[in-house]
Amino acid sequence: MDRRSLLKFILAGLALPASFAAQASQAVRRVSVVRSGGSTKLLLDLSGPVIANSLSLDSPPRLVLDLQQAALDTTLDGLLLDGTSIRAVRSGKTPTGDLRIVLDLAKSGIQGELRPISGNGRKLELLLPDLPVRGSVVAAATQQSPVQAKGKVNRDLLVVIDAGHGGKDPGAVGAKGEQEKIVALQIATLLAKRIDAQKGYKARLVRSGDIFIPLRKRAEVAQRLNADLLVSVHADAAPRLTASGASVFALSQNGASSSMARWMAQRENGADSVGGGLAVKLRKEDPMVAGVLLDMSMNATISTSLDLGHQVLSQLGQVSGLHQSKVEQAGFAVLKSAAIPSILVETGFISNVRDCRRLHDTRHQRKIADAIFAGVDSYFRQQPPPGSLIASQARAETA
Ligand SMILES: [Zn+2]
Repeated sequence: MDRRSLLKFILAGLALPASFAAQASQAVRRVSVVRSGGSTKLLLDLSGPVIANSLSLDSPPRLVLDLQQAALDTTLDGLLLDGTSIRAVRSGKTPTGDLRIVLDLAKSGIQGELRPISGNGRKLELLLPDLPVRGSVVAAATQQSPVQAKGKVNRDLLVVIDAGHGGKDPGAVGAKGEQEKIVALQIATLLAKRIDAQKGYKARLVRSGDIFIPLRKRAEVAQRLNADLLVSVHADAAPRLTASGASVFALSQNGASSSMARWMAQRENGADSVGGGLAVKLRKEDPMVAGVLLDMSMNATISTSLDLGHQVLSQLGQVSGLHQSKVEQAGFAVLKSAAIPSILVETGFISNVRDCRRLHDTRHQRKIADAIFAGVDSYFRQQPPPGSLIASQARAETA
């Protein structure tokens, strides 16, 4: 992403005139820390709008905040950090003259959300969860499955599987009342079994029953478990009843790759309003999302997701018709984890009579699950994550 489009991300949410786009040197005039409701906000008062990126790094765990062509016009001493996940705050200049603010964190895996909070671009906030991170769904998931230790040798690759919808959100409904949430859970469960049966892999289901979980929580489960991959399983409806076949989606930073992809993302993102929670808006005008998308690590994650999605799509094409022959992209809220490659698989259209019948057939469900796994496996065999058993096997084969 070039500098100009980055800037647009910040400015789009603020409805600023284009003249602001001129890149001037700005100053950070005040930095403060505010704690509320289990999270900490690092607030920056600026002399004017800046392009900002945040990036999480490990060993030691830290969060880097780069402000392009900005200078620090205040002190970082004396910030009240007790009880927060921040150990220390320091600053420096990058070789390109940007201001870099580094937050040393109490532990790794803490994700920050960067967003503008004023209409004139003069206030930025970085939101961080406090320690310990609370969340009933996450806690339930971690109880049975300790967080993946990525430093371990020959570790299993962890695939988190998200069965779409659930509870009061049925998802798409077929002509005879068939419900997407049921089909999605059946296929997700078969996929989990297939993955667990393979040496070198482990699967975890975000939901194993008919319960409602907000979209953000689903991505959080994958983050908390330090997963290698998130696969969200769906079987949607289309306005055109003849639409059929499987498709694979990845997140997009720049709008949808087709009108169908946009429509799908709008449907899926509506799940939270069905469930009674806040509707998730994943538009680039959304300042919060702009902050997340500005995180440069997102680019790498999306590119991995596209490669992986391509492998899954080509395997799916051998057991099912395809709706699209390439991986589609749109702003799916469930895929917005900046650290974990994430794909959404539409296994077919519940609105299509033939697809719907097949989606309820256990043999076909198993074929779909096997195909998704085959795609995932072929991707990881080609690019084995360091420290994994799959990586050791790949080394042994080439040795
Ligand atoms: Zn769905």
